[in-house]
Amino acid sequence: MSLSGKTAIVTGSNSGIGLGIAWEMAKAGADVVLNSFTDSDEDHALAEKMAKETGVKVRYIKADMSKGEECRALIETAGVCDILVNNAGIQHVAPIDEFPVDKWNAIIAINLNSAFHTTAAALPMMRKAGWGRVVNIASAHGLTASPFKGAYVAAKHGIVGMTKVVALETAREPITCNAICPGYVLTPLVEAQIPDTMEKYKMGRDEVIEKVMLERQPSKEFATVEQLGGTAVFLCSDAAAQITGTTISVDGGWTAL
Ligand code: NAD
Repeated sequence: MSLSGKTAIVTGSNSGIGLGIAWEMAKAGADVVLNSFTDSDEDHALAEKMAKETGVKVRYIKADMSKGEECRALIETAGVCDILVNNAGIQHVAPIDEFPVDKWNAIIAINLNSAFHTTAAALPMMRKAGWGRVVNIASAHGLTASPFKGAYVAAKHGIVGMTKVVALETAREPITCNAICPGYVLTPLVEAQIPDTMEKYKMGRDEVIEKVMLERQPSKEFATVEQLGGTAVFLCSDAAAQITGTTISVDGGWTAL
């Protein structure tokens, strides 16, 4: 599968799943735009390393996905967008009646609204190029719910809905839009939830992973960022040209329960 000649923009890609997807896109031959809200030496070093190891062009562009105008500016600054991976995301866990309003707004802005802005900016470029792929990183929480994750579940269900709308609006064009729904993947986002969960359940780390986190994941294994990258690359392949407006679960059987 060669994505040579294509440019992939992956939002929130200096860490975790976004970085894993960026690596697989680069290995498949696509030029890559990495992004986050920081602008550190490490961010730019990451781009250099990826370019050196894969031979593709890799740029790092700072843009804060909580701000609509910066989402659009990311796409405009890149200047080309054949593949858009809407991945940036954050989490906060609290009951609805105690959910901090600023956290609610930030989750909806970063996990949902950003994809509206980037997609709106990218579609004209895809139409001009005569080809495009939008891959939204939703979650098992885009299809099911858990308590205390109100904003996250709302945003992820929202992005699954928006995926269907974009697919219908581009159905007669060589553009597809799909959502990948991962179960638990051991990234910094999930690592950050472990200490609180240990405290809450009075359990050790391994017990929390097995009995709480992977409780709903029948495989009892985390999905990996490489597997998610491979799924995103597949959605960009010719074999996936008629796959649009749908979700692909990479969740070890979570949503089969
Ligand atoms: P992560 O914390 O490792 O990575 C999140 C990325 O988003 C980072 O690169 C971070 O810099 C970036 N980001 C955060 N706020 C941003 C902002 N305002 N502007 C730009 N970038 C920003 O988390 P992850 O687990 O890799 O999550 C990536 C995506 O996958 C998220 O949308 C998350 O909801 C989704 N997801 C993760 C899991 C999991 O188990 N890890 C499961 C299902 C879905």
